[in-house]
Amino acid sequence: MTELICIVCPKGCHLKVDEQNGYAVTGNGCKRGEVYGKKELTNPTRVVPSTVKISGGSHRRLPVKTSEPIPKAMIFDAVKLLDTVEVTAPVKRGDVVYKDILGTGIDFVATRDM
Ligand code: SF4
Repeated sequence: MTELICIVCPKGCHLKVDEQNGYAVTGNGCKRGEVYGKKELTNPTRVVPSTVKISGGSHRRLPVKTSEPIPKAMIFDAVKLLDTVEVTAPVKRGDVVYKDILGTGIDFVATRDM
């Protein structure tokens, strides 16, 4: 049995996940917590925020994030990919700044206009 706090909404329900019983989740206030608890123990993923260099913008770095959650084990390597990325203003929120992170089909996208 693993205990964790649900991070899907601010309520922060205390979940218990029973690995011996099909990852059954208890303590969840809604269905989303059940999905989160099960996934967190079988294939944990996160949306990853970061920044890239930008030239010609109002700031020197542009905030970006992954377009979808990626496996937690990939986070370090994914952020490292951005070291070589430099974009040029203007950039629109949602523009892809790095395509297909580590073959996942998920992109880094801008999170603001600049
Ligand atoms: S289980 Fe549902 S209500 Fe509880 S924190 Fe997660 S999302 Fe919020």
